[in-house]
Amino acid sequence: GRKFLIGGNWKMNGSKALVDTLVTGLNNATWNTDEIEVVIAPPAPYLDLVRSKAKKEVNVSAQNIYFEKKGAYTGENSSEFLKDLGINWTIIGHSERREIFKESDEVTAKKVAFALAEGLSVIACVGEKLEEREANQTTEVPSEWTNVVVAYEPVWAIGTGKVATPQQAQDVHHEIRTWLAANVSAEVAQATRILYGGSVGAKNSGELQKEVDIDGFLIGGASLTGDFVTIINTRA
Ligand code: 13P
Repeated sequence: GRKFLIGGNWKMNGSKALVDTLVTGLNNATWNTDEIEVVIAPPAPYLDLVRSKAKKEVNVSAQNIYFEKKGAYTGENSSEFLKDLGINWTIIGHSERREIFKESDEVTAKKVAFALAEGLSVIACVGEKLEEREANQTTEVPSEWTNVVVAYEPVWAIGTGKVATPQQAQDVHHEIRTWLAANVSAEVAQATRILYGGSVGAKNSGELQKEVDIDGFLIGGASLTGDFVTIINTRA
């Protein structure tokens, strides 16, 4: 079976005080690590603090990295920094990166390939223009899928309180898995986790997680509150 992944994307939110509150909450929570994987993605300036405070069952992720190891790339974050901090996950291609910061499919694909080559695990995000992206990326899909998790986030559901219905999410997740089977392999399609993101909270996670192709969540707003632990407990 695919291990259920509960991801928290803090986006550009937080403070040392919030790190303390949220990490303490997670450190006091328990879950079966054979069945549930927890990954939190705080803003880059707090990665070190979060990694040092959080217990080892809590995986820590960057929200983005660049596709070069170092150099004159002012403002960017490197896989080398992550490895130096003991962090082995990154989100890539969030819809906010694509829309606000104009990151193209090409850049996103380069970043995914680079992060994987650096030995990081990747939460690769796709949005509602799924078919279009699939068509564009057919020649650029990663060759190694072991460390890739796909997050489906319909743009209209992000931060709006308008969650996809379990059936709407399931339909797209099934479509993604079918695409993986056709374009990568049956084994990869079976093994790859597909997360749903977009207004997930403690009130709807129970219904969403019943769908066979929903293998976890990428949670924004609710990951900044006690809801995040409630969602873990609802699964556990
Ligand atoms: P919300 O949960 O705030 O809708 O955000 C979803 C998201 O974009 C997670 O990456």
